[in-house]
Formats: sequence, structure tokens, C-alpha cells
Amino acid sequence: MENIIKKLLETHSLTVDEYEDLITNVNISDREVLRCEAVKLSKEIYGNEIYVRGLIEISNICKNNCYYCGIRAGNKNCERYRLTANDIYDCCKMGYDLGYRTFVLQGGEDLYYTDDLMAEIISNIRKKYPGCAITLSIGEKEKETYQKFFDAGANRYLLRHEAANKKYYETIHPKEMSYEHRMKCLLNLRDIGFQVGAGFMVGSPKQTNRDLAMDLKFIEEFKPEMCGIGPFIPHKDTIYRDEKAGSIDMVLLLLSIIRIINPHVLLPATTALGTIDKEGREKGVLHGANVIMPNLSPSDARKKYLLYDGKVSVNDVASEYKNNLDKLMESMGYKIAISRGDCKK
Ligand code: SAH
Repeated sequence: MENIIKKLLETHSLTVDEYEDLITNVNISDREVLRCEAVKLSKEIYGNEIYVRGLIEISNICKNNCYYCGIRAGNKNCERYRLTANDIYDCCKMGYDLGYRTFVLQGGEDLYYTDDLMAEIISNIRKKYPGCAITLSIGEKEKETYQKFFDAGANRYLLRHEAANKKYYETIHPKEMSYEHRMKCLLNLRDIGFQVGAGFMVGSPKQTNRDLAMDLKFIEEFKPEMCGIGPFIPHKDTIYRDEKAGSIDMVLLLLSIIRIINPHVLLPATTALGTIDKEGREKGVLHGANVIMPNLSPSDARKKYLLYDGKVSVNDVASEYKNNLDKLMESMGYKIAISRGDCKK
């Protein structure tokens, strides 16, 4: 184990076998070594600044049927909503006034937002907030569409690869969804010039440490600018309703390892992490995360955008959340940055 950790710290690279060995056999003191190294790297590159992104959940209408997801098309119990362009602008205004300089538009794959409408929304936000970053997280599209969004002024795109092991990807997705297409989308996004975010869930049903080791190898090789990981959490209207949630310890360990593999990565402490542990965000930061994505969605939307059960902060007021977050991060020796928070690669 000592040799593997030494190799990881020195070369930022391991084989899949070594990643598997590492995450299967680390003891408490190994974890602490990795955590300290991760925090050290994060501070060397990003100082004590934590970047914030205003998350706008634009729609829970989706044409896909990912087995794990609460807003999948087949869920008849899901109350659907979508935000209009004006709703979205209102969220941006609120976020801007609170000091957010990145807006993340996330949603199901909702065909109401045609390429033209989406491009119009992006370019209106771009005109109004020239100094802000616009991040999209609206799923798989063809390359021309991504290009159109980029030309309209979007800068970043989050599309978790979900699973680097094709066999496992196919276990948690219906056959209409294609591993190759998702991977192709990530390559296209990079090609166009987006800052790209990949990522995966931890502890989803039947996932093995081998699968996670393959995810780590993928992150090492693809080197995304951003990497979103969080625990799988079951949703009552999915076939995984009775499955266990992912473990916080594994998520924290993986956050540290990802920071070490790819020191410049923008690494969020995700909402799902804050959901399985009330101090999840803090713990994430103390394991190498440097991004937090507060929710800017209107309260009705927030309550309906339920990918999993028990989502936190559905009743928070954005301004109070921001005040508390500022204080919390200060108490930990960090500071919430008022900036776009680009990747320093
Ligand atoms: N439709 C967009 C946005 C997906 S939602 C897309 O396809 O990229 C963002 C992420 O939430 C997903 O990529 C998935 O990894 C995560 N997610 C979905 N269901 C979840 C669950 N039950 N538990 C934890 N995370 C979940």
C-alpha cells in the first residue's frame, strides 16, 4: 500500500489494478495521508478560495429513463415543471446580486428547449452578464447543437460520464442509451472548446471497486476541467428504491484521490454529498473539493427536481443560504470567491 500511495503522490497516475487495490485496502492512516495531500494541492493552486456556482434547475421533464434517476421519463409520480426563459433570467439576476459569477443551467433532456430557444437564452444571459461563466448540464446533444450553444456564449458543460466501464454503464441504463454516445459527447464538447465536466455516482447498485477504479483511470486520462462525484441515493419511484445509498467515506476518499490525480480539477462538494451527511459539504472541502453549487431555482422547482429522496436545502432562501455558507467557510479558514472561478490549468 505504501508503494502505491507513494507512486500516486509522485506520478499522479496508477494502473486500474493499483486504483482498485488502493480503494479496497486503504486504512485510516492512509486515508489521512491522501486527504492532507489533496488539501495541500488544492490550496497550492486555488489558495483558500472556494468557488460557488448558482445552480438553476430549469426542467424536470426528461426523455430518458436512467434507472437510478427520480425524474426519468417513466416515473408517473413525478410532478413535472419547466422554467420559462424569463424565470431563468430572474434566477440569474438573484444569483448575480448574491455574488455568483457562474450560472449552471441543469435539467432533464426536455425537448421543449429547442436548440434555437436554448441558444437565445444563453445569448441573452451572455449579453446581460459579460463577466460571468455560463455552464450547461442538459445532457446528450449532437455536436452541431453543442457548437451552437458555445457560439451563443456558453463556456462550460457538465456531462457526467456515469461509468467508464461499458458493462456497468449498461447495467444502470436502459438499452436505448449508449455508452459510446455519451463518451463521444464528452470528446465533442472538448473539441469545441468547452471546459468539460465528467463524473460518476459512488455506490450505485452492483457497482464494484473495479468499476470505480476504471472511473479513476478515465478521469486520469481524460483530464476533465471539472469532476462531479457524489453518493448514489435511492429514489422511491425507481427500481432501486430498496438499495443502499453510497458511503460517505468512499466519496471522501475518491475526492482526495481525484484531487491528487488531477491537481487543477474543479471539484464540487455536491448536493448529494450534503444530503447523506449534514456536514457533507464541509467534509468534501476538507478532502480536496473546492467548489460548491448553491441552488438558485425557485422554491417550487427545487421541490420537484428530485433525482433522489431526501434532497437537502429545498426550503432554503438563497440569500440566507449564501450568508450561512460565507460564515461556515470562513470558520474553516476558507473564503467564498466572487469570481468566475475558472480552471487554473
Ligand atoms: N440530464 C443531465 C443532468 C443529469 S442530473 C445529464 O444527463 O447530464 C445530474 C447527475 O445527477 C447525473 O449525472 C447523475 O450522476 C446524478 N444522479 C441522478 N440520479 C441520482 C441518484 N439517484 N443519486 C445520486 N445521484 C444521482
